[in-house]
Amino acid sequence: MSLFKSPIPYVEPRDNLTIPQFVFSETFEHPTKSSQIGKYPCMIEEDTGRKVYLSELNYRTDALARAFNALYDIRSEDIVSLYIPNHVDYPALTWAVQRLGGIVAALSASLTSEELAYQLTVAKPKLLVAYLENLPAALEAAKAVNLPASRIIVLDGQKAKTKLPYKSIEDLVNDKTLPPYKEFTFSKPGEAREKIAFLCFSSGTTGKPKAVAISHYNLISDLIQFAAFNRVNENYAPWEEQRFRPGDVASGVLPFNHIYGLVINVHAMVYLAMTVVVSPKFNYERFLQNIDQYKITHLFIVPPQAVLLVKHPLTKKFKLSSLRVMVAAAAPVSAELTTQLVEAFPKVSIGQGYGMTETTAAVTVFPVSQKVGTLGSAGQLIPGVVAKVVKADGSLAGVNEPGELLLKGPQIALGYYQNEQATKDTFVDGWLRTGDEVLFDANGDMFVTDRIKELIKVKGNQVAPSELEGHLLDHPDVADVAVIGIPDDFAGEAPLAYVVLKPAVAAEAAKSAKRAEEVKARLQKHVSDTKSKYKWLTGGVIFIEAIPKSPSGKILRRVLRDQSKSLRAPS
Ligand code: AMP
Repeated sequence: MSLFKSPIPYVEPRDNLTIPQFVFSETFEHPTKSSQIGKYPCMIEEDTGRKVYLSELNYRTDALARAFNALYDIRSEDIVSLYIPNHVDYPALTWAVQRLGGIVAALSASLTSEELAYQLTVAKPKLLVAYLENLPAALEAAKAVNLPASRIIVLDGQKAKTKLPYKSIEDLVNDKTLPPYKEFTFSKPGEAREKIAFLCFSSGTTGKPKAVAISHYNLISDLIQFAAFNRVNENYAPWEEQRFRPGDVASGVLPFNHIYGLVINVHAMVYLAMTVVVSPKFNYERFLQNIDQYKITHLFIVPPQAVLLVKHPLTKKFKLSSLRVMVAAAAPVSAELTTQLVEAFPKVSIGQGYGMTETTAAVTVFPVSQKVGTLGSAGQLIPGVVAKVVKADGSLAGVNEPGELLLKGPQIALGYYQNEQATKDTFVDGWLRTGDEVLFDANGDMFVTDRIKELIKVKGNQVAPSELEGHLLDHPDVADVAVIGIPDDFAGEAPLAYVVLKPAVAAEAAKSAKRAEEVKARLQKHVSDTKSKYKWLTGGVIFIEAIPKSPSGKILRRVLRDQSKSLRAPS
């Protein structure tokens, strides 16, 4: 067999709908559907318990679209960057921009001002939505890229101690003086396939973070593909076994800007008439409290959160009896960890999902026919996606043979925004090169066996080695550098820098262990001063004579990985 696909039939969505049209007017794919829509809150604010229903989401989306259009002249193709944490207004902000035909650049709220400035130069937004806590970084970055301060909105600006010169979301929603706007719609079938709805950042297989262009159709397709996992072959699973039911309640701790949170928490839960408990920051105790307080049934988490569930002493202090489904994705979950989870939560359905920003999230999920996903498996292909596995010699792998995973499907993104070369290298003849080594077994279970691409994953977050290498090369002590990931029991991986020092500094470092430690600390500080916390060199710094390179100058990362095989990140 050379191509792999799901046995579950895939029903294509219409390709002339915008995401907000789909969310507000299409009935969701569920046997009980339309009578349930609007019955349950879509979102609950963790701190206040405030419930937001579909009708309120619609009202706020409409009000924000009016304000964006009238006050900031946002129209089709304009980009609005969201530099905000998880919030009950995240969907309304997003859909308001898309109701005008605009594009949402979903940015991590924890970007430093330097990282934000870089992302602003890639996306060039007309408007930036920040929040009080990161406003200083937003202002610094906006200044660096010449984005006028009048183009900044502050999500929670009304909470500022002294009145700010920026509009808040409440100012915009409550402004009744604004003229109506014209909703963006497609005029011809097929247009939703090409129209960009989101820019989400990913470094792909190599290089610095790039903006992945995700169309309206990509996202709508992934929702339908994901929801089809309530089925077993042609039919729905019996009600008792259904994975997602209207009224189910999900945790909302994944960052909404990351494709996993954006698709699952911001969109899929609304589509499936479920409720999301929105957490602006992950705090483990609060997370456990929420499960009991809001009777959370579904946990969508990353592997380090699964580690906490089995290892942290606080877990036992809570009942956690409402839980029914637990999905971990964004990085591998070992068979051992799954076994421990199953022991700790014997009644819960537990398994993995696999996806990428470039695949608008889901590609595989553990199927509804498995109460617990096959140990170590990343799940089975969702309907509508076709996979092939290419061996090192270029031939196609069969069952149980490892090779690079290539994918085709309605959810595969359009490419990298305004980056033709990277798009050409990664989206080849209609197939996406994932840079992951996988194998499929005879049951259709996919196992991620290795990562071929440069990417390092820390707590599910992407760390692009070349971004850190470029930054370290700017340091006066550094002659050459290569960054790789080493195993970390909690975070999954930790970035480690192999550094060639300039001769004078190398001589200084050679004088004593203390001097060497001082030089290492300088380099670590150089990273921690300007980069998000998960990018810090927690795997350490190792001095080396020369970075192993191919004749063409490419870093031989595998040689370094082999050298560091016995290393683990310090705890
Ligand atoms: P991102 O674009 O940030 O979602 O990162 C995508 C990458 O995360 C994939 O290409 C994989 O390398 C990794 N990944 C995601 N899910 C899994 C999983 N279940 N097992 C192993 N690696 C995963």
